[in-house]
Amino acid sequence: MTLRRRKITVVGAGNVGASAALYLAERELGDVALVDVVEGIPEGKGLDLLQYGPVGRFDSRVTGSQDSRLMEGSDVVVVTAGVARKPGMTRLDLLQTNARIIQSVAKNIQAHAPDAIVIVITNPLDVMTYLLWKLTGFPAHRVVGQAGVLDGARFSAFIAQELDVSVEDISTLVLGGHGDDMVPLVRYTTVSGIPLADLLPADRITALVDRARNGGAEIVKLLKTGSAYYAPAASGVQMVEAVVKDKKRILACSAHLSGQYGLSDVYIGVPVVLGGGGVEKIIELKLTDAERAALHNSAKIYKEAIADALKVVA
Ligand code: NAD
Repeated sequence: MTLRRRKITVVGAGNVGASAALYLAERELGDVALVDVVEGIPEGKGLDLLQYGPVGRFDSRVTGSQDSRLMEGSDVVVVTAGVARKPGMTRLDLLQTNARIIQSVAKNIQAHAPDAIVIVITNPLDVMTYLLWKLTGFPAHRVVGQAGVLDGARFSAFIAQELDVSVEDISTLVLGGHGDDMVPLVRYTTVSGIPLADLLPADRITALVDRARNGGAEIVKLLKTGSAYYAPAASGVQMVEAVVKDKKRILACSAHLSGQYGLSDVYIGVPVVLGGGGVEKIIELKLTDAERAALHNSAKIYKEAIADALKVVA
């Protein structure tokens, strides 16, 4: 028997895509293929990352191309192609442009990586994940979106800063869409098993929730020319790791619902078991009335946006 390395394609070699390729290679999660439409960028960044190997001490081979045939044989495809927000924009403002980009990316994945598990990062996240699922015709467990890992990381970072404790001890869960309507579940947030509410007063928790909810916009305002990329890319890579190592991690991901939480035909952030089979299980929590209402409100926003996106690609 000959074992082979995993192959992971990153579509879009911009800020998020190149950072994801870097982390994937550093962690030796597989060989990495970078695909982008801009001439020279995927090739150049791929070569740069390959040359980092001897210094970074990793054997992942990184290649780049404009030719989407490079994705052939991919086990996992990470989709980061698309425009990012500028100050004053919401993620939904990206819908028209990115729906067309996802349409062409879906076609390429269908043609060249028909067996891959696809992790979508492009915004508006829940809408683009739905669109990619619909356009590839892949089973829903093989198409999943990254949002909750990042939103949870943002909330955790602010909690750790506030309490002056290690980020490693914080565990949190953020449901709902990747937007202002996200639903951080404070009652599922613990610090080394201690409920957050036992450690911080309610007004401070509310302030941290608000900062996490606006965590992306805070960075867009500072950068002025684009949006966050280190943490978003690392969050996507954590999902790739769960898949290629079949870790069966419970992570908040944008997953296709077909009746769970009383919702169907929508992608939205919920806790899932992520492993070698992709989304192996959707975990249905018993939500309070307020949490359920917030999740349904979030889903309503994305259902409407999905209808708009489907018109763009019709
Ligand atoms: P960027 O502009 O730096 O890079 C985007 C890249 O996509 C560019 O290099 C562009 O040439 C490429 N591209 C465009 N059309 C393509 C196509 N058809 N095929 C292949 N490549 C194509 O943007 P970025 O900062 O890397 O952000 C990428 C996307 O990720 C944006 O939509 C952004 O909103 C989103 N994002 C999502 C999250 C999240 O948590 N889900 C977080 C941050 C950013």
